[in-house]
Amino acid sequence: MRIICVVGARPNFVKFAALWHEIKKYPEFEVTVVHTGQHYDDNMSAVFFRDLELSEPDYNLGISGGTATFQVSNIMREFERVIVIEKPDMVMVFGDVNSTLAAALVAAQYGIPLAHIEAGLRSGDMRMKEEINRKLTDHLSDVLFVTEDSGYENLVFENIDERKIHLVGNIMVDALLTMRQKAVKSRVLEDNNLTKYGYTLVTLHRAETIENSEYLRIIMETLEEITKTKYVLFPVHPHTLKKIGRELKAIGDGSPGLVCISPLGYNDFICALDNAYAVLTDSGGVQTEACVLGIPCITMRTVTEHKSTVEYGNVVTGIDKSSILHAFNNLNNKRADLPLTWDGKTAERIVSILKRMANQKASAA
Ligand code: UDP
Repeated sequence: MRIICVVGARPNFVKFAALWHEIKKYPEFEVTVVHTGQHYDDNMSAVFFRDLELSEPDYNLGISGGTATFQVSNIMREFERVIVIEKPDMVMVFGDVNSTLAAALVAAQYGIPLAHIEAGLRSGDMRMKEEINRKLTDHLSDVLFVTEDSGYENLVFENIDERKIHLVGNIMVDALLTMRQKAVKSRVLEDNNLTKYGYTLVTLHRAETIENSEYLRIIMETLEEITKTKYVLFPVHPHTLKKIGRELKAIGDGSPGLVCISPLGYNDFICALDNAYAVLTDSGGVQTEACVLGIPCITMRTVTEHKSTVEYGNVVTGIDKSSILHAFNNLNNKRADLPLTWDGKTAERIVSILKRMANQKASAA
């Protein structure tokens, strides 16, 4: 079975890595990797290939910057060329970024079976570009690999044929559990003069947050308040830096408690998360990772598509100073069990389903 895996952005690399390390054990699969170029800086892309021990992609489409429409349309145009050359048996996409939707559209137009890893998640907010991407991708997909019960229920509710849906668990957990052992070697705490549980980690990058100046003002005031009692370690996403670089510098200059750094590579980030007092985030992946590592998580959004993390103790506060501070001062220890399939064996389950499909195809031929 010849599979093209399409990746483009930081969270894609993590999900793909877990799959890659499992699928390469089986000679019946030939995997071609296409990097769309959506994330291109060393600390948003290449470092993940190094940390996650991935080889260079077979194709780099070099599409970065611009609006979502620019990215989707240009990735489609370039990816079409790859499809025509490679004629794969399957295209596999990950998560909810623009690269995911662009590749899904091309695969569907060429009638090539499409598999979506991390299908079924829904925030219910169609103003989020990610929600548009994940919903459309799911409806174009032939094989949907779902992370948790709510994902399965969402797809059935949207009338997707249950025979296409596979509840396999969260593949990010596979990468996390493997890399956690390597991450202990990271020097991120020493490099930033931090101690275990002596700081709060912050990540922020969602367009609906960083493009709203009122939200940014609230978040920065809140961070300033938090730095009065705890250091704040803030690896700043490039999009966020563009929006609030100057304001961050102003808080940083006035408050030695705010440590702003460039985005971290995966090993360093997992080390920083594993040793944090708490994490404040608007990231999807970080909510999951915090729960698995048992680090209290405050999600600065009004909704989350990662429903099971809320049962586990993730507090969704909205972007409201008093709600965020209340959550921070009353860190939630509620602990339902995490989904059973978040056990680090998701890639194994996906590959065994693919093997079954490959066998069925071979015997039908
Ligand atoms: N991450 C990282 N360095 C950072 C921030 C995040 O390696 O400075 C990792 C994090 O561990 C997770 C992924 O990036 O695996 C999440 O990516 P992001 O928050 O950009 O996307 P989302 O999950 O919201 O789609």
